[in-house]
Amino acid sequence: MLTAVKFRLYPFPDQARELDRQLSELNSLWNHALEERCAAWKKERRSLTFVQQCQELTRWRNFDREGLGRVNAQVAQECLARLNDAFQHFFRRVKSGEAPGFPRFNRETTSLTYPQAYDSVRLVPGRNGTRRLSLSRVGDLPIEVHRELPAGRTKTCTVEREGDRWYAVLIVEMADPVPPPDLPPRHPLGVDLGLSRLATLSTGEAVEAPRFLRRSEVQLKRQQRRLSRKRRGSHNWRKQKARVQRCHARVRDQRRDLAHQLTSTWAREHDLIAFEDLDVRSHLMGPFSKSTADAGWGMLRRFAEYKEARRSGRYVEVPSKGTTQSCSACARPHDPPLTLRDRTYECPCGLRLDRDVNAARNVLARALAIVGGDTPEVTPVEIGPPVARKGRRVRSMKQEPPSAVGAST
Ligand SMILES: [Zn+2]
Repeated sequence: MLTAVKFRLYPFPDQARELDRQLSELNSLWNHALEERCAAWKKERRSLTFVQQCQELTRWRNFDREGLGRVNAQVAQECLARLNDAFQHFFRRVKSGEAPGFPRFNRETTSLTYPQAYDSVRLVPGRNGTRRLSLSRVGDLPIEVHRELPAGRTKTCTVEREGDRWYAVLIVEMADPVPPPDLPPRHPLGVDLGLSRLATLSTGEAVEAPRFLRRSEVQLKRQQRRLSRKRRGSHNWRKQKARVQRCHARVRDQRRDLAHQLTSTWAREHDLIAFEDLDVRSHLMGPFSKSTADAGWGMLRRFAEYKEARRSGRYVEVPSKGTTQSCSACARPHDPPLTLRDRTYECPCGLRLDRDVNAARNVLARALAIVGGDTPEVTPVEIGPPVARKGRRVRSMKQEPPSAVGAST
């Protein structure tokens, strides 16, 4: 099993300059190699292979010792390998009748990867108990190791620039987790993902998309508008661009942190987590594209999946069709169908439940039907807003018309 961990790097100014220089060399390498492939095809109708380009790279590096020669050889090769992958992917999709985009020229390269990090990358002690990341051909960069590296072999190391910040992403090969025991789950959880509310749980709890995220986004929009008014390439434009990138990073970090917090709690308390198999991509095309992306559904599901796997728990995706339209107690479909305006699910069998909690329970029931296990006891009559978790506010549901969903994420 592969696990990625991301650490912040604090390179010294000369190290940051060196990294920037190497990134721009790699950018030229990518564009040059792409052009070579195009030219070879146009002129002679032949395809260059990865191996051929690597041989070319060796010659180039020997010739240009102060330029591309400064970059670690494996890092440079990895760049060609990515280009090769891009072409293979392109041809595969053409073959299957799709219309993919041709590999593109890059304006800027912001990351470099050491493909065999166990040779070229090491954590070494720095001054006063600090640590450094020793990168071949760059130096020992101060690093904040905010959590211990998982036990295992470091497979690859990617150094990324986000605005004016630097990060190292280490991919670690860990032992495969123990598969879940062949017993019915004891504490299963069904999750209904939504827009007006980030998530509603089969236990009756609700999770709102937090306000700070929304605020950061308003801020991001404002800075982006300012950027668009500056002359491209000017000094002020560059300064503003750095600001926009910092905002982007903040929004992304907040989204990710929230997803980590939620899924860690869920995985700790439940040995099965069930989601609907919503196709997030199809939603991204729809009218709520932004809010959907914001809600970070994809992240929640990805994190939940690997966190359950680590704990030998289960992660299940169930078909989403009809989860909102049937009773979680007696399975009767709602008649007439529930509209978006109806916040409460009522059934002749006596069930009276928040509509999202009802949906979450249906998701859970479907998951348990797949893995085998009993649905937890359902209280037949429940009403009112679901219980908010740890101080997260749950808004009164009647003030949340479906058209306003964008505003609450
Ligand atoms: Zn019913």
